[in-house]
Amino acid sequence: MKFLLFLTFLLTFAFTSYSNGTKPDDQKPKLIVGIVIDQMRFDYLTRYWNHYGEDGFKKLVREGHHFTNTHFNYVPTYTGPGHASIYSGTTPAVHGIISNNWYDRNQKRVVYVTEDPKVTGVGTTTSAGKMSPRPMITTTISDELRIASNMRSKVIGVALKDRGAILPAGHSANAAYWYEGASGNWVSSSWYFDQLPEWTNTFNRQKRAAELMKEPWKTLKPADRYVESTADDTPYEDLFPNETKPVFPHDFPKNSPGNLDLIKYHPAGNTITKEFALAAMKGEKLGEDEFTDLLAISFSTPDYVGHQFGTHAIEIQDIYLRLDLEIADMIKQIESAAGKENVLFFLTADHAAIPNPLFLRDRKVPAGIFNISRVQDSLSNYLSTTYGAGKWVLALEDDHVYLDHELIRKNNLKADELYRDVARLLMGFEGVAYTLTLSDLISSEFNWGIRSMVQKGYYPKRSGDVVIILEPGLIEYKTKGTTHGSAYTYDTHVPLIFYGKNIKSSTTVRHIDITDIAPTLSQILGIQPPNGTTGKVIGELFGE
Ligand code: ZN
Ligand code: ZN
Ligand code: ZN
Repeated sequence: MKFLLFLTFLLTFAFTSYSNGTKPDDQKPKLIVGIVIDQMRFDYLTRYWNHYGEDGFKKLVREGHHFTNTHFNYVPTYTGPGHASIYSGTTPAVHGIISNNWYDRNQKRVVYVTEDPKVTGVGTTTSAGKMSPRPMITTTISDELRIASNMRSKVIGVALKDRGAILPAGHSANAAYWYEGASGNWVSSSWYFDQLPEWTNTFNRQKRAAELMKEPWKTLKPADRYVESTADDTPYEDLFPNETKPVFPHDFPKNSPGNLDLIKYHPAGNTITKEFALAAMKGEKLGEDEFTDLLAISFSTPDYVGHQFGTHAIEIQDIYLRLDLEIADMIKQIESAAGKENVLFFLTADHAAIPNPLFLRDRKVPAGIFNISRVQDSLSNYLSTTYGAGKWVLALEDDHVYLDHELIRKNNLKADELYRDVARLLMGFEGVAYTLTLSDLISSEFNWGIRSMVQKGYYPKRSGDVVIILEPGLIEYKTKGTTHGSAYTYDTHVPLIFYGKNIKSSTTVRHIDITDIAPTLSQILGIQPPNGTTGKVIGELFGE
């Protein structure tokens, strides 16, 4: 009987659908807008909630599906791996983007995540244009969308940071655009085309960066209303070159060569990103035909401001109050251009950030600065004293120790034993919580906790031989401002909201991995997930 009822329900449902003329394709959005906020902590949504307007973050949370417990599931939590993982549905162990920089054993130097000597800049002759997604070894949802539509879907990536634009757009994108500080222009590379499209030249000719930066940065609301933040002048904040105190109004040096580059630290950095993304949507006619397009936008300014002032500064609150208005305006403009019923938005972040360690210590929370160069010196001394002269440590990059394999062979040493000795020595330093060797990481599978997060971030051809994991609260940074990169929740917990086409207002508190976003988008689009996907489809979005 139950089965019959179920069957009747199914038939009714099917009949209703067909009688409305609904085909599966009609369920697909015409445009997906991916919004990544660089360095957005989850609690920026809740902490500043009472200050936000009705049409920005609040509208996304209220009308969208809000996942309140979304985390990065690997280390290190940096921008390059963050963007790659969101769009590829997997972690650095599979997509290969292990950090923003790593030591390349063939080239014997530290390389940058999107640098590519084989391409040339477009719209620039400087090295800022020599960038591509080549080092990413998997596909992204953007690639799968292009391939599934026989290249008729359009994909555009936009961010002030090259890596924030390039990695989300994937390999087969129509274009990625990023900002060149020296010229104030949006540029690209020959990976995509040989000439900027006319709409890009038109945008650049307007010299918006110079225009937007004319005004000093003042608080949006009267400063005494920012009761969620510390006072304006604290020892936790860093200074701009022309300042003696880290206080509002922040005036930026005029007509100096680096002036336009400073837009990264100014609310105008978000404004120009929004304006350029909207120009791209119009110029490339995104969302206008039946082939779903993807506009991948990353707002880089919150990261620069976070690094400069820390997570509890009045400046970071102001940046988020202003970003809220930019997002509100952007949603409104995109919905009116493409039709509200045709657009699916998702919003997340590429990592979060820890409060400034001195700020934490003043509140009796264990925290501090870890001096990594002291560790490198001691390690080098120990190895040459114990095993003979030589440059044993080729690099210590993002807590990965790269040892000289050639030297190990020449000295007839067993590599595994040397790694273990290095790991043992490193454990002796105050602040080191764990060490893991290449042998540990490739011989056994960790399925729980921080060790498993290290493993998910480990790609043997680019990673070091010994990995250092610090205790919570420690950073390798200056004493002012802050950073990110760890496996702890202050760095992993980020917002995740889906809003728009076919999304019902809802909240999910279940733990979601950042790698679940891309396979979920594949499911919505009815296409293949990215080829290295390890994340899972988020069932709640499909009524499960
Ligand atoms: Zn970032
Ligand atoms: Zn301040
Ligand atoms: Zn950062």
